Amino acid sequence: MMLTGVGIIGRFSIRHEEKEFQEYLELLQMDRKILPPFPGLIDLKGVIHAHTRISHDSKGTADEIIRAAQGADLQFLMTTDHNDKRIFTEGLQGKYENLLIIRGAEITQGGQSILAVHIKEYINEYTKYAKTIQQIVNEIKSQGGLAFAAHPYTFKEWDVEGIDGTEIYDMADNAYAQAWKLPWMATEAFVSFQDYPDEVFLSLLARPDDYLSQWDRLTQKRKLVGIAGNDAHQRFMLFGKQLDPYQLVFRFVQTHILTPAFEETPLLNALQAGHTYLSFGLLADATGFQFAAGNSNIRAIMGDSISYSPDLVLTAQTPHTGIIQLYRNGKVMDTVTAARLDYPVKERGVYRIEVSLPIEGVKYPWIISSPIYVV
Ligand SMILES: [Zn+2]
Repeated sequence: MMLTGVGIIGRFSIRHEEKEFQEYLELLQMDRKILPPFPGLIDLKGVIHAHTRISHDSKGTADEIIRAAQGADLQFLMTTDHNDKRIFTEGLQGKYENLLIIRGAEITQGGQSILAVHIKEYINEYTKYAKTIQQIVNEIKSQGGLAFAAHPYTFKEWDVEGIDGTEIYDMADNAYAQAWKLPWMATEAFVSFQDYPDEVFLSLLARPDDYLSQWDRLTQKRKLVGIAGNDAHQRFMLFGKQLDPYQLVFRFVQTHILTPAFEETPLLNALQAGHTYLSFGLLADATGFQFAAGNSNIRAIMGDSISYSPDLVLTAQTPHTGIIQLYRNGKVMDTVTAARLDYPVKERGVYRIEVSLPIEGVKYPWIISSPIYVV
């Protein structure tokens, strides 16, 4: 599975490794613990940052995107077409059987992109002059929308007020960063993609080190919800094959939201509160993951602030045994290989969890939680 010189040259060795990887993932699925949910909350899995054919660079039809989201077992989809008035006349919105679609736009100004989730009207980023990012965010907030920094590598204006969160993983950025794999991907598209699309895709999976370091620096100054940016377009074809079909892109990584109800308003409120975690679901479904802080009197979950007390304990639980790491202000404080971590809090700070799965000697990132702020 890993990229080796032998793997690039020898198609048989590639196929062999992908078969083993697939078998490992199938075994993992069988060994799954069902965790009792937080009282009063349900864990919904979905995708934020997807384009449809309203965007100039996507050909995805409404029917294709709905079927792909349902096929990927998503409960919500937040579309973010490149800014266009047609989003509000032709864009999908509402419930489609068990799928809730919330529309928005990706607004780009001066090379910086903002995801405007759940806006009600078109925001013109040029009225007479180019609007500043702060003006755009102000308009998003005045419409009751949420604002997320997309493609955080190129985003600079972190001091802008009103930003709710940021992508901590972006599939497009991650793919571009690994452009050196393109010859290998072309070989794979020809040789293995038909039989092992999941495994070929997972070879692109890497921990977003820079984005996480930046996020850790920023969350020490302000709350910032971390989301997965799928940036789904369904646009790349190679040898007549769709390299980025919606369903595979949706199954690759998801944002989970812990919400009291499967309705638009509570879902958006929970997203804004950071009751969220990111998971590379193509490895294994992370539904049920929990990260909480509490003592005998009080409990907080991901996204919440909680006052420090000497008896405060942080607890993380996962549906599969993995390598659980607890971070405080960007530094690893504890590591266990287990399905549960308990950590007595010794000092204030911004605490978050990462879980990875060791597969054939390689550590694959699996879950990244939003932080609990111990103040
Ligand atoms: Zn995009």
